[in-house]
Amino acid sequence: MANDLPVLICGAGLGGVAAALALAQKGCCVRVLEAAQEPGVIGYGIQLGPNVFRMFRALGVEEAVLSHSHFPPDVLMLDALSGEEVTRVHTGQAFRDRFGDPYVAIHRVDLHRCLLDACKLNANIEISASSECIGFEDDGARVRVSLQDGRVIDGCALIGADGLGSMTRAALSREAAPNPIGYVAHRAVLPWDEAPKSARRDEVILWAGPAYHIVQYPLRAKSLFNVVAVFKTENPHERAGPQAYRDVLMRTYAGAHPAMLEMLELMDTGRRWVIADRDPIRHWSQGRATLLGDAAHPTLQSLAQGAGMAIEDAVVLAECVSQANLDFERAFIRYQRTRAARTARVMLESRALWEVYHLAGAARLERNAAWEARTRGETYERLAWLYDGIGAGAR
Ligand SMILES: Cc1cc2nc3c(=O)[nH]c(=O)nc-3n(C[C@H](O)[C@H](O)[C@H](O)COP(=O)(O)OP(=O)(O)OC[C@H]3O[C@@H](n4cnc5c(N)ncnc54)[C@H](O)[C@@H]3O)c2cc1C
Repeated sequence: MANDLPVLICGAGLGGVAAALALAQKGCCVRVLEAAQEPGVIGYGIQLGPNVFRMFRALGVEEAVLSHSHFPPDVLMLDALSGEEVTRVHTGQAFRDRFGDPYVAIHRVDLHRCLLDACKLNANIEISASSECIGFEDDGARVRVSLQDGRVIDGCALIGADGLGSMTRAALSREAAPNPIGYVAHRAVLPWDEAPKSARRDEVILWAGPAYHIVQYPLRAKSLFNVVAVFKTENPHERAGPQAYRDVLMRTYAGAHPAMLEMLELMDTGRRWVIADRDPIRHWSQGRATLLGDAAHPTLQSLAQGAGMAIEDAVVLAECVSQANLDFERAFIRYQRTRAARTARVMLESRALWEVYHLAGAARLERNAAWEARTRGETYERLAWLYDGIGAGAR
């Protein structure tokens, strides 16, 4: 495939760079426009399921990603009040045997670097930093993107990979901002030796409590400890200083297990993340423009699949463009049709799971009893729709 004008991608997040790589490997010229001065510098952990490794293989970055990954033996859910184990997903050999690929935790910077390094080796890709897109026009033959600094860039098509607050989505649909769900997050990544001794464990651990949770796991060969505290608050958009945020954190988790309280001391209260999603939609392509990743289907973090879905999108999108022989309108319709049901399921199941994680009172005890009774095989089968991933047929 050869296109005279480049395919423009707004946003060099994980979805944007994966899409650049996937399209370039199909022979497309691509230009990625990123608002930040440097792409991919946000440094926290991320979990990836076996479905995403199939995509890494297609993109030629599997070995690089594996070399930076931590392989947890299990993903555990612990009750935040009693400390008891609620459920365990074995992610060792039995998991690999069932799903064909591993479950990993990786530093987001490392993952981004793997994708960016592969982009650098591909002459079809240009990544332009400090290039904030503020609008675009589609005249049927090309798209014309306006940047904040006054430049205008022409392309043969536009992919909005600009995240939760997507400018591209706002321009396409004029819909309201994403729904904040009343929860916020504080995160921290610190040297392994600075984590509390009891917290230094190989597993991914989710501590589930009434209207709050904590997720912890190691990164970079256990040299780093990653932790995120997520909780409901009356004022998710409140802007306050680190001490005021810390006070709210301590009040919220006052009844939590002592092991969780120790981890709260470590949280970075300099930055707060407002948790939000949107309702699923079926149509996110119009003419020569489409959306990808969080711009198209932002999801809550309960299944840890937001980035995974963005990377799946990238591979499917490139396949659709290649099959439609650069007829972007046709390719984008086919792409959204292929992706809508799966991504909507991730969004809706993540919302349902979010409620289950945060149950209180008798409902919490009922959940614990039901989940404790699950066998390993049952747990795997409940996850199969997600981790079996998208086969060649689905593409
Ligand atoms: C606390 C937390 C934990 C998470 N854990 C996981 C996990 O374990 N596993 C998982 O798979 N996912 C996880 N996610 C979700 C995941 O981070 C996102 O789904 C994923 O990063 C989406 O990628 P994206 O490329 O679509 O968007 P983003 O990563 O948001 O990237 C968008 C890019 O576009 C740029 N941009 C924005 N606007 C413009 C503009 N106008 N012009 C140019 N550039 C622009 C931004 O600077 C950014 O670089 C988590 C999210 C949170 C908040």
